[in-house]
Amino acid sequence: MAEAHDTPETQMARLILALRSQGVSDPKVLNVIEKTPRPLFTQELFKERAFEDSALPIACGQTISQPFIVGLMTQALKIDKRDRVLEIGTGSGYQTAILSKLARLVYTVERYRTLMKEAEARFKVLGLTNVITRFGDGGEGWPEQAPFDRIMVTAAAPDEPKALLSQLKPNGILVAPIGKGPVQTLRRYTGDGKGGFEVEDLIDVRFVPLLDGVAKEL
Ligand code: SAH
Repeated sequence: MAEAHDTPETQMARLILALRSQGVSDPKVLNVIEKTPRPLFTQELFKERAFEDSALPIACGQTISQPFIVGLMTQALKIDKRDRVLEIGTGSGYQTAILSKLARLVYTVERYRTLMKEAEARFKVLGLTNVITRFGDGGEGWPEQAPFDRIMVTAAAPDEPKALLSQLKPNGILVAPIGKGPVQTLRRYTGDGKGGFEVEDLIDVRFVPLLDGVAKEL
């Protein structure tokens, strides 16, 4: 548990240890998490809790993902620095920032304008120049920019995300929470190069749902 009086460095070191102990072992992923200032992505009210290994509320009734889940999903995606990655559900932009430091280009889609604008401002603060944002329904992917080497979905899809899988390269990897209930299965689809996929169930997760269409409210 993070103690509020500890320095950010101490709190971050503790968080990295917690991630390692839960199975996030890729040094590149851990390094990027360590260097990404999570307080920048949380609401003012929750800044003191930014180094906790827990999901936290953000605007529009959404959440910034738990660092362990961010680490696990990023590791599961096996990103190469030449990859073009599609992310569905920008939210706070925290996961996006982490992807951007491991990939060549990150395309990210969000259905709330407010979240998109706030995330864009954070990318600017961090000087991230390889993130391309889009306000829209991510369930449809980003056909104009397909195919992608990697796809990460950070909202729960009710079942197999066919439109997104069709935008993956033959040997690409897609990671998504799949399920209709409050608890979903984190699933990895790895292209077999012939149009099929190897499907692996990784862990139970709790994500907000992937909703149809863009949000009417801001
Ligand atoms: N990776 C984000 C997680 C945000 S929660 C973070 O760490 O901050 C999931 C996000 O998916 C929410 O912002 C939600 O608005 C968005 N979302 C849900 N359905 C969507 C859809 N169809 N298209 C785009 N974004 C969607």
